[in-house]
Amino acid sequence: MNDIAHYINGSATSGTSSRTQAVYDPATGESENNVLLASASDVDTAVAAAKAAWPRWSKTPALRRARILDRFKSILWERADELAGILASEHGKTHDDALGEVTRGLEVVEFAIGAPSFLKGDFSENVGTGVDSHNIRQSLGVCAGITPFNFPAMVPMWMFPVSLACGNTFVLKPSERVPSASLKMAEWLTEAGLPDGVFNVVQGDKEAVDALLHHPDVKAISFVGSTPIAKYIYTTGTSNGKRVQALGGAKNHAIIMPDADLDMTANALMGAAYGSAGERCMAISVAVPVSDAVADALIEKLVPKINALKIGPTSDSDSEMGPLVTAQHRDRVSGYIDAGESEGAKVVVDGRGFKQDKQGFENGYYLGGTLLDNVTPDMSVWKEEIFGPVLSVVRRNSYQEALDLVHSHEFANGTAIFTRDGDTARAFSQDVEVGMIGINVPIPVPMAFHSFGGWKASIFGDHHMHGMEGVRFYTRIKTTTTRWPDGQRSDAEFVMPTLG
Ligand code: NAD
Repeated sequence: MNDIAHYINGSATSGTSSRTQAVYDPATGESENNVLLASASDVDTAVAAAKAAWPRWSKTPALRRARILDRFKSILWERADELAGILASEHGKTHDDALGEVTRGLEVVEFAIGAPSFLKGDFSENVGTGVDSHNIRQSLGVCAGITPFNFPAMVPMWMFPVSLACGNTFVLKPSERVPSASLKMAEWLTEAGLPDGVFNVVQGDKEAVDALLHHPDVKAISFVGSTPIAKYIYTTGTSNGKRVQALGGAKNHAIIMPDADLDMTANALMGAAYGSAGERCMAISVAVPVSDAVADALIEKLVPKINALKIGPTSDSDSEMGPLVTAQHRDRVSGYIDAGESEGAKVVVDGRGFKQDKQGFENGYYLGGTLLDNVTPDMSVWKEEIFGPVLSVVRRNSYQEALDLVHSHEFANGTAIFTRDGDTARAFSQDVEVGMIGINVPIPVPMAFHSFGGWKASIFGDHHMHGMEGVRFYTRIKTTTTRWPDGQRSDAEFVMPTLG
């Protein structure tokens, strides 16, 4: 067994803890690696390195910081295949899907390279006679990122490129189920010229997270993961005086109007529901056809496509869907299908019986694509996030009923509408209380120069990630008001100063 280590102050280190956890290849069910689980003292070491590196890094001209990120971006382009291979081997997603993930992360690095432009301040001349005023955005200090298993490269890259570009130093705590991609990115940042201590990785679990949440030198925390943990991170972090953005779980609905192009919709739903085995926070997990006729026609188109899904290991270039991340998660998703069936849903396509017969992969954590019809809002399969290849159909009779269904869910990460009617589409995007909206686009993940984030129980905190929202999160404003001696002399004034 090999140990997957931490990365502190410019090199890999084993730290002090003897606690480890096995890391599995979901495609085979085998494990050749253990990840080290950091102690609070390992977190202290990483934060101390980041704190020591911050004064110099924050004063390094933004252009020079951007040039290092530019070199990192070139390394990412050249070695995207290698990174995709690493993350797919621990997550289970297909190689092409993993490459797409690397590209979406790299786009945030491209955005962050524009830091010299977006860190420009505001200047007001002559706010009073002979008095000028200007704002600048300054870095916060040591920032931390805590990330989920489902995007081992992209979600960390939602955070650290913008944070570093703004002049912060960073400690990343990736998911213990997929620890290697972060380590590789740390090595490549050093190779790109990032000074030691500016970017650090601590592998670990709750112990490491709690040490970050309580550490007085950590100024801000970015979190992405499930809603209960997001809420815990937000309440604990903010009560310790930190700035926190915590993105949580999702249940994304797609409304299908009677005028929708059903072939296009069915293809879109296939990718959005079953791509990455449904382990995406922007996966569509609920289809809401408006009328029984639309529901029946849509299901007729979906069933043969689901039955034809090519489910296999990441190493097989034909695979359209890989395994789930762990055996426990596969069993949990399977348990939701059991629950849906016993609560009265119709199992139209049943993934529970799927057997992987490719030699060497029989013990991987595979599950077939599943379609549930006649799902109702009282069922656990609608109320809870399943995070697997299960699409639930909730039938509705009108646009308003469909909209009310979306609004009645506690989560509000993403949603989509399929229609040819501009009026309905516009009303939907104006009225729906969800953070990210697709109009005939099933997974409306905003580009790097926009910002990513949901509403309601899908987020705790005020700032979405990356784009200008990321810049606002990772900087604080300072305003300087300036008057130079010009020969004018006045006596002391004791009333509230008014400059105009
Ligand atoms: P998770 O909440 O179990 O873990 C996320 C992180 O929190 C990991 O680094 C983990 O080590 C840490 N953690 C877990 N339990 C903890 C605890 N008790 N105390 C402190 N830290 C703890 O999430 P996951 O299973 O890795 O990822 C899947 C979830 O992430 C889904 O709910 C998905 O919707 C969500 N997600 C959301 C977004 C988004 O943008 N909103 C994006 C990706 C994933």
